[in-house]
Amino acid sequence: MEQGTTVALIVAAGRGERSGQALPKQFARIGGTAMVAHSHRALAAHPGIDRVVVVIGSGQQDLLRAAIGDVEWVEGGVTRRESVARGLAYLGGSDVARVLIHDAARPFVPGTVVGRLLAALDKAAGAVPALPVSDTLARGTVTPPTPFVSSEVEKRLQAPSSRFSTSLETNGSGSSGILGEVVSRDNLHRIQTPQVFRFDAILNAHRAWPADSEATDDAQIARASGHDVILVQGDNMLEKLTYPSDFAEAEARMTPAPEYRTASGYDVHRLAAGEELWLGGVHIPHDKGLSGHSDADVALHAITDALLGTIAAGDIGLHFPPSDPKWKGADSAQFLQHAASLVEAEGGRVTFVDLTIICEAPKIGPHRDAMRARIGDLLRLPVARVSIKATTTERLGFTGRGEGIAAQAVATVRFSGVSSI
Ligand code: MG
Repeated sequence: MEQGTTVALIVAAGRGERSGQALPKQFARIGGTAMVAHSHRALAAHPGIDRVVVVIGSGQQDLLRAAIGDVEWVEGGVTRRESVARGLAYLGGSDVARVLIHDAARPFVPGTVVGRLLAALDKAAGAVPALPVSDTLARGTVTPPTPFVSSEVEKRLQAPSSRFSTSLETNGSGSSGILGEVVSRDNLHRIQTPQVFRFDAILNAHRAWPADSEATDDAQIARASGHDVILVQGDNMLEKLTYPSDFAEAEARMTPAPEYRTASGYDVHRLAAGEELWLGGVHIPHDKGLSGHSDADVALHAITDALLGTIAAGDIGLHFPPSDPKWKGADSAQFLQHAASLVEAEGGRVTFVDLTIICEAPKIGPHRDAMRARIGDLLRLPVARVSIKATTTERLGFTGRGEGIAAQAVATVRFSGVSSI
């Protein structure tokens, strides 16, 4: 590449009147970082860029400092074009050879696009990122969305004497909203920023541009002075954030993806005469029951251990020692709920439980739905997210001989906003 430095000029001089926010949108935070700071960071980190200058509105120095810290800035003008012109004038007279002009409203700048733009300057005075238009294009005026009206207002609107009725009719059946001519989208592109130019070319083009005329970007100013501008592949990441929903989407993009953890639990209890049989939180009439320190609900114990496993919190015996008389005959529902509360305290939410009960008798099928409902209640989980299966062991082993019942469970837990990983 030729001599001279490459400067990124971030246009962040908006006053924020349109967005209705107290703070101009370039200083609003996305993922905890001011919008302008996102692109500043990306451009400053790019190996092809030597220097980053931010064009701010008058009196926005403190906002900028709070957003990024002490960075180089220059005061812009009333319009975007004026702001760019002032930024270029500020850079004039130094050794700047190339300038990338970028709108702060596009916070996410892929380095690959910057690389493509700079490479294109070998062939032309300017280059811009562009994306082909994929939607059908048509002329017409879109009917404005019906404003929200409360049911009380709606009633008044429907009354024949209502003074609002005319506006309602206009809204519903006005002449706007008719689809007009479809425009061919062949070779049509959406133009993004950053736009890169040979510095002298864009400086002179701005000087030659009529002061009373506006421009939505710098490429058209360069073209008006006879310069070729190359289209390079843009990126969806570069989309401009304009509407509140754009901010919400960007915020969601910055939020780390949830982490899912799966853990298993296994338990066995002995079947004995003279005991009640509790399985999956449900009392089941049977000639034998499970014996243990608590109510010996082997199914709930297995799920409890699975839940504890998702937070590596040991096993049920650690939390409810059989040696503690407090748990004699205890309802195992409280063990399960305690494990669920520990999971929640770690930011987890149980999303699915799969349980297998292993026994020769009783038959589980007739009680399956009652168990699912009970476990769903205890874990505040829809029944569709509680799976219960049963199997015998073909009369083999202790379960086959009817000496005990075994249960195994697998729990899936979603953790969001886990920062320690
Ligand atoms: Mg147990």
